[in-house]
Amino acid sequence: MRPICRTSIKFRHCGPLIALPALKPRWRPMQMPRTQIRHRWREVLCSLLAALAGLLLPAIAASAVELDPAVAARIDAVDAQGRSDPSGAILSVDALLKSETGSAARIALLTMRGTYQTNANQPDAALATAATLDALASQDAKASALIVRAHVVRMKGDLSRALELAEQARTTLAANGDSRQGFRLEMMRGALLLELGRQADALAAYQNALSLAERLNSKVRVFRALDSMATLFVDAGELDKAIEANRKATRYAQELAEAPLLAQSWDTSARVASLQQDRDAELKAAKAALGYARKAGEQERIETMLINLGDTYLKLGRYADALEVTNEAIRIARQISDPHGLIVALANAGQAQIRLGRLDEGRTNVEEALSTALKLESRAQYASLLAEYGEALEAAGDYKNAINAYHRERRASKALAESSRKNALLELDARYQSEKKQREIELLNRDNALKSAQLHNRTLQQRVWLLAAGLLTTGLLAVALLYRRVRDANQQLSESNRMLKVRSERDALTGLFNRRYFQEAMRTRSASGGFIGGLMLLDIDHFKRVNDTYGHAAGDVVITTVAQRLQDTMRETDLVVRWGGEEFLIAVGPMPAEQFDRLAERLLHAISRDPVPYGEQYLSVTISIGYASFPLAPGHLSLEWERGINQVDMALYIAKAQGRNRACGIREVMASNELELDEIERSFETAWRDGRVKLGLITGAPPG
Ligand code: GH3
Ligand code: MG
Ligand code: MG
Repeated sequence: MRPICRTSIKFRHCGPLIALPALKPRWRPMQMPRTQIRHRWREVLCSLLAALAGLLLPAIAASAVELDPAVAARIDAVDAQGRSDPSGAILSVDALLKSETGSAARIALLTMRGTYQTNANQPDAALATAATLDALASQDAKASALIVRAHVVRMKGDLSRALELAEQARTTLAANGDSRQGFRLEMMRGALLLELGRQADALAAYQNALSLAERLNSKVRVFRALDSMATLFVDAGELDKAIEANRKATRYAQELAEAPLLAQSWDTSARVASLQQDRDAELKAAKAALGYARKAGEQERIETMLINLGDTYLKLGRYADALEVTNEAIRIARQISDPHGLIVALANAGQAQIRLGRLDEGRTNVEEALSTALKLESRAQYASLLAEYGEALEAAGDYKNAINAYHRERRASKALAESSRKNALLELDARYQSEKKQREIELLNRDNALKSAQLHNRTLQQRVWLLAAGLLTTGLLAVALLYRRVRDANQQLSESNRMLKVRSERDALTGLFNRRYFQEAMRTRSASGGFIGGLMLLDIDHFKRVNDTYGHAAGDVVITTVAQRLQDTMRETDLVVRWGGEEFLIAVGPMPAEQFDRLAERLLHAISRDPVPYGEQYLSVTISIGYASFPLAPGHLSLEWERGINQVDMALYIAKAQGRNRACGIREVMASNELELDEIERSFETAWRDGRVKLGLITGAPPG
């Protein structure tokens, strides 16, 4: 018979020492083609590496609720005891519970008690412990209650329900809960998943357990996780991985130098060697495992190693040796009341005896194994035992009994197939339902994520719009402000330009146009040809006297008053200019001579009619005017304006000379060209007297 997988059938949270008959492990029939396994593992391993650290572990492990190292050491010691002596460990837990009041410690101890009670076949006591945990009301306590319940359910054989409870525990366990509880849970999940044929998920659970063990810096736990992984790889036929995991586990066991751990690691080495078909190595490892088990002194472990060594002997055809070690195993199994171990040991002993030709003894042993299996309702084991029984009988030449065994095996297998088909269907359905639920949750999560992403997007969009609106408003405000400033500046500029223009065009004292303006106006008005219209030059008589007698200010008043009166007398379209000092120039459009004379007369009158008030006094003011119309009569001699002014200046001179308060108008100038005019200008008075120039003199009324 083949070696035993200790992690099957009966659950012990840390490597139960349960021997199984050499039948295909329960999870074997669900094996998938090798390539598919590899493919899934690659997937799992890749995703695990990425996901484990970030996603899975925070949910089950963390450092926030770690125990005090001294307390943790005491608890771990009891845990080690629990593996070989659950009943004794329950007492140790109770003793510790009396002194330990910390909540993390209490939860850990109660979980352990529930586990040992389950292993010691006290399910009711275990459920009571779960209720005690529930009453503690913390999240971790609730998760631990679920762990204990999962143990109990598993003991009763309902693996799917046990897994359900374990998964619930996993979601309940606080994110920062005790890593020890997380480890316990992941190891349990690993074993359950393995038994349910979900090797990839089981591997993931063991990986979680390994990370937690490493985080806890607990070599014993690292060893347990690695050893479970090695066993998993052996059963999946992954030789390289099995060797590597076993090598690492062995290193930890050697470092810790603990006999139970060394026994376990050598036992796994034997399984690895068996997979390699290396019988010598297998035998050596199985013997070493037994040696360490004896050193550890744990009966159940010794029993397991004896059975496994016997199995190796059977494979080597060393039936006498097989019988010897198996008989010892039978003795221990009876002694410690281990029916599962007993079945395998009896069956193996029977096989060895049949092969040795001791048919009666062999049949007796195998029949006892068969009836015990039936009692335990281990139907798969029962059928498998019958098949090997038949083979052995056939090999020994007992054909009658061999056929009988085969028939029994057929019937048992048929019944088993029937019930396992039902179970498989039920399991499949449960799995389908839970997967459906999971998918729905995933879809909801995705929907949620989508919605929150949309919401986030909308918020972002709103922010962008708000920002844009803010920027736009600020921008508009800035532009408006700038615009106002520019407009104000422009206004100021045009105002100052206007002022500048006024200043440059107007005389500051009188507000009349100045000489520069007049020159500019003439330049544009008579760009070609001579000046057309009338020009009058006016000069205040004896003005110097005003200044001298009344002061300069009085002079200014007189000048401005004269300017005002001139402007009042003239039309808007006429150009009245302060020509300089107390001289004014008036340019008018062409007009008949008489009308021009009347204008001159009116101007004389306008100035002299009323004296100019100055303070308390009234100053008499008169002006003299020289004027002429252009082109000059009678020959229509056309002249530039400058030359025209020369002419009226000379007429003004005559007006002054004739006694002032007079206007002298040039009526005719006998010159047909500018040369003749030059001649006349050289001696204007003479020309007047000899008649080459004809003047008209208007005398102003005496001043008022
Ligand atoms: P006439 O009748 O021959 O023109 O004698 P007048 O005294 O008016 O002539 P004159 O040319 O000898 O004197 C002009 C004076 O006018 C000289 C100058 O001091 C004065 N004057 C020129 N501009 C101003 C001014 O803006 N304000 C004042 N108060 N006096 C001025
Ligand atoms: Mg003058
Ligand atoms: Mg004067």
